[in-house]
Amino acid sequence: MSGRPPITLRDLAAIDVGQLRGVGEKKRASLAAFDIHDVLDLVTTYPRRWVDRTNEARIADLVPGQEALVLVTVRSVTKRVTRNRRTMVNVNVGDGSGRMQVVFFNQPWRERQLKEGLQIALFGKADTYRGGLQMANPVVDLIGDRTGKIVPIYPQSEKAQLNTWELAAWVEEALRRCRERGIADPVPERVRDRLGLVDRASALWSIHGPDTMREKDAARRRLAFDELLRVQLVLVMRKRELERTSKGLEHVIGGELVQRFHDALPYPLTGAQQRAIGEIQADLAGPNPMHRLLQGDVGAGKTVVAVTTLLDAVQGGHQGALMAPTEVLAEQHAAGVRALLGDLEVPDPGNLFGDRPLRVELLTNRVTGSERKAVLAGLADGAVDIVIGTHALIQEGVEFNSLGAVVVDEQHRFGVEQRAALRDKSLAHVPDLLVMTATPIPRTAAMTVYGDLDVSVLDELPPGRTPIVTKWANGPLLEVEVWGDVRAQIAEGRQAYVVCPLIEESEKLEVASAEETYQRLAAGELAGLRLGLLHGRLTPAEKQMTMDLFRAGQLDVLVATTVIEVGVDVPNATVMVILDADRFGIAQLHQLRGRVGRGAHESTCWLVTQEHEGGNARVEALVASTDGFELAEVDLELRGEGTLMSTSQKGRSDLKLASLRRDRGLVARAREAAFEIVDADPDLAAHPVLLDELDLLFTEEDEGFLAKS
Ligand code: ADP
Ligand code: MG
Repeated sequence: MSGRPPITLRDLAAIDVGQLRGVGEKKRASLAAFDIHDVLDLVTTYPRRWVDRTNEARIADLVPGQEALVLVTVRSVTKRVTRNRRTMVNVNVGDGSGRMQVVFFNQPWRERQLKEGLQIALFGKADTYRGGLQMANPVVDLIGDRTGKIVPIYPQSEKAQLNTWELAAWVEEALRRCRERGIADPVPERVRDRLGLVDRASALWSIHGPDTMREKDAARRRLAFDELLRVQLVLVMRKRELERTSKGLEHVIGGELVQRFHDALPYPLTGAQQRAIGEIQADLAGPNPMHRLLQGDVGAGKTVVAVTTLLDAVQGGHQGALMAPTEVLAEQHAAGVRALLGDLEVPDPGNLFGDRPLRVELLTNRVTGSERKAVLAGLADGAVDIVIGTHALIQEGVEFNSLGAVVVDEQHRFGVEQRAALRDKSLAHVPDLLVMTATPIPRTAAMTVYGDLDVSVLDELPPGRTPIVTKWANGPLLEVEVWGDVRAQIAEGRQAYVVCPLIEESEKLEVASAEETYQRLAAGELAGLRLGLLHGRLTPAEKQMTMDLFRAGQLDVLVATTVIEVGVDVPNATVMVILDADRFGIAQLHQLRGRVGRGAHESTCWLVTQEHEGGNARVEALVASTDGFELAEVDLELRGEGTLMSTSQKGRSDLKLASLRRDRGLVARAREAAFEIVDADPDLAAHPVLLDELDLLFTEEDEGFLAKS
């Protein structure tokens, strides 16, 4: 033993790959093209697959039509160009049990890649072709002359000219040369023991060269935990620091104003609403500024919770602000909130008559002139209790007398800068912040991406809703049934929405397609009915007029683009038809569907697609579930991983192994561990190696991104 301390990630990052045997200038350049510059990059370049030789099939055992993995030797390679000018590379391969033909279309480079005598692993479906077996376009892994039961397969690049066995050999050499000093393990032993995690050195050895697949799994779990723990440490440290350094208001909860508001509601609060309000009020009463996310499906009743939050602030003589992403939504919110508040009066101890009317104002760019002046003056002197507007409210020199609580609708566009603006808004205290979202985020994703927020969930819809029946109309024959249903519902006095195909590339094209759909339906399937058209290129006045007509029941059908996604509430509308539904994402379909099912009548949502063979996973998910949280999980599953950080700066802090989908449980464990570590040691002074890792792996930009919203 040399007595020197074990090797840290920073030590590894300080060693250039050029120090490894066999890495000369040329290979060094190839590695650099792969973003592997130092030994840390190298040992965290994990295999993307492990070929288990004990589990492979032999050619003789292949069953036509079934996927299988075979390990074979290349016997001959030929290339030709087919009549329709596609290249076709034919490879004859064999193992001890037999031979097979492999064919690659449009992959001319395979001719150079697959040399005679090379050992390769093929994964694909074998079929019978002209009496023999053939695999078309299988996944190919070059095995080289690697021995061992389990062969790690690294990401390979033809261009960079790196082979999986070269990478494996360098990784092995690097790890071998770490052996003497050992590799530091900064995760506290009690956490490792509790979670049954192997130590870091073993994990690195095993992920690159496992003896069994189980050993590989244990290694993967440990290294994935490290990635998740680091993210959570950044988030939790930041959360605790915010709490330490910002002084919030200690609102007095339980005043008369909120009581009056709840008493005046025509319905009792749901259990979920009560729970969320309780969580929010506990934050409001506490000394730290609230920083909470309110998640709730469309129609879950978030508005009542938001208004309660604002009134809690008003009760104590402060002001509340509600911010929407657009002016139109701000106007809708203002109308909705005013209707909800009715003629609520504020108890006013300074007033001889005891009460004064609550003052709610709208402030957008469309509020101008003397009206605007009056609102601004009222905000500055405290005469305005609640203001509703866009983010401009906090950005453009609007003065508040005492801003006590801010509710933001939709988290996406409310980032770090907005939060900073909010903190600067009032010198005496930082207002409490509630962020609302109708796009449910799976719990583990919320914990990671919005990990410095607390989360309340409205997971219960108000009673008395008739559930929406969702049906898939696949192809023109079934579409006939759709229009029949629309006509039948309208004959019953109901109304319908038709959502036109989404064209993401161009609003102009989308509008054109909406106009076309409108003409087609008006002249054809829906002839004789009263149709309206709504899209993003109409003036606000035109939109307003169309919406008013629809709301008043003077239109039977509203043909629209996705502009109706948010905020439209017409209880008499019971049918929604979404054309080319497979062009939309799950969250968007779910949002759209939420426009119906708002009244007492049973509602239907038709998802129309051009004829599909086989399934469409997103459409099927919508048919199977109306639960936004469940759908969010499916969405995460279908979309795969994606990166955690903004994609443009994919760097070391990205999750290489951990998956928010696969490792749900591990995310929660990592978060717990982070709280445990940070609460005992807020600056990580007693965990210098861990702190150093965060420093090494996260840029300030990353940390900013992690703390978004
Ligand atoms: P969200 O903003 O979460 O989509 P809203 O706040 O707009 O939902 O509420 C949707 C509808 O449910 C509104 O018409 C509202 O009046 C009604 N609502 C809210 N809370 C309740 C409740 N506890 N019981 C019955 N209806 C409710
Ligand atoms: Mg709402």
